[in-house]
Amino acid sequence: MKLRVVVLGAGFGGLELSTLLSEALAERLDLTLIDKNDSFFFGFSKFDVMFGRKTPDAVRLAYRNIVKPGVRFRQETITAIDPEARRVTTNKGAYQADVLVIALGADYDQAATPGLSEGGNEFYSFSGAERLREVLPTFTKGRAIVGVTSTPFKCPPAPSEAALLLHDYLTAKGVRDACEISLVMPFGVPIPPSPASSRALLATFAERGINFVPNRLVRALDPRRRIAILDDESEMPYDLFLGVPKHRVPEVVAASDMTEDGWIPVDRKNLKTRFPGVYAIGDVTSVGTPKAGVFSEGAARVVAASLIAEIQGGELPTAYTGAGSCYVEFGIDRVGRVDVDFLSGPSPTGSFIEPSVALVGEKQHFGSSRRARWFGL
Ligand SMILES: Cc1cc2nc3c(=O)[nH]c(=O)nc-3n(C[C@H](O)[C@H](O)[C@H](O)COP(=O)(O)OP(=O)(O)OC[C@H]3O[C@@H](n4cnc5c(N)ncnc54)[C@H](O)[C@@H]3O)c2cc1C
Repeated sequence: MKLRVVVLGAGFGGLELSTLLSEALAERLDLTLIDKNDSFFFGFSKFDVMFGRKTPDAVRLAYRNIVKPGVRFRQETITAIDPEARRVTTNKGAYQADVLVIALGADYDQAATPGLSEGGNEFYSFSGAERLREVLPTFTKGRAIVGVTSTPFKCPPAPSEAALLLHDYLTAKGVRDACEISLVMPFGVPIPPSPASSRALLATFAERGINFVPNRLVRALDPRRRIAILDDESEMPYDLFLGVPKHRVPEVVAASDMTEDGWIPVDRKNLKTRFPGVYAIGDVTSVGTPKAGVFSEGAARVVAASLIAEIQGGELPTAYTGAGSCYVEFGIDRVGRVDVDFLSGPSPTGSFIEPSVALVGEKQHFGSSRRARWFGL
């Protein structure tokens, strides 16, 4: 008998899980992978798009390239999830699963920040990054703010990277001296679990004249006065606002009765939800790691290993550790690396590898190896 798996969402988590199950189970697997989009893109490729380094088409990886034994991709929009019955409805049909995996990521709620859509920009969605391709060339002088509006948010180093890459972009255009860059972050330092990487980032901000505003969120924009209002009611004038919008689960997850305090709770050790046969991985959960692709992938590995062990009778995997490596763009063609572990010990730990050209190559390999594994490209 084949194992009937339905995987909702073909992002980092869904792609890694489908790949691992296909490799191990092949003809014993009957897996349906569902996503509303026709293609995947890495979170970090939004920087390539917004700063005009690559075209949107160049960073898209089409799902039609997925050819794996036991796996079928369906481009459909999920409209209802019944976790009790392990039944999923889409705009085109319905699916019944033995094992259901929710890997639907995090959506954005721009309207939660008054003034953001009228008077600012966000760089977290693909369409936001595409719009910024047109906006950034028009910014030649004045005040730029990169600002976080809410927690949790994906890839905590990303706002710092955006500020550093904006510095490079304006320098290359010859207008950096006419511009100010500020970074508004809800933490006291850029990457709290890794003091060494935070020190390196703060030193780099100081060197490049980037004003770091710690322990603050941007609560609203006043587009008429071109003012950002922070959560302590202080005001910062801006001419260009690059925002990280409020995150939330996709609408269909919110309507499914699976969330608590906004996200899907899971057993940290094995990513099981409270519904038998239903797992949740990645950004859609409140597992206790930051929302980043490497952690979604790590969670997928634990779920895959336990399903494979159940079928093949092998050993169950050790508990999920919430460990992973994040590459951090330092600008001027240098990349650093933070190795973090969120769940093994009593508190998160992180170590830092200094920015270098060698790590630029390692980050490229991170992308190309997944392109090859997931899409055969
Ligand atoms: C600017 C930026 C830079 C980043 N840099 C990095 C980085 O360097 N390293 C890193 O590890 N992470 C990075 N990230 C974070 C990373 O992109 C996400 O954390 C990661 O994609 C989460 O994976 P996931 O599988 O949980 O969800 P996702 O990859 O978001 O996948 C969820 C999928 O579900 C689909 N979906 C949602 N709702 C529906 C529906 N109703 N019907 C059908 N399909 C649906 C979506 O289309 C999507 O494909 C970055 C993010 C940003 C914004």
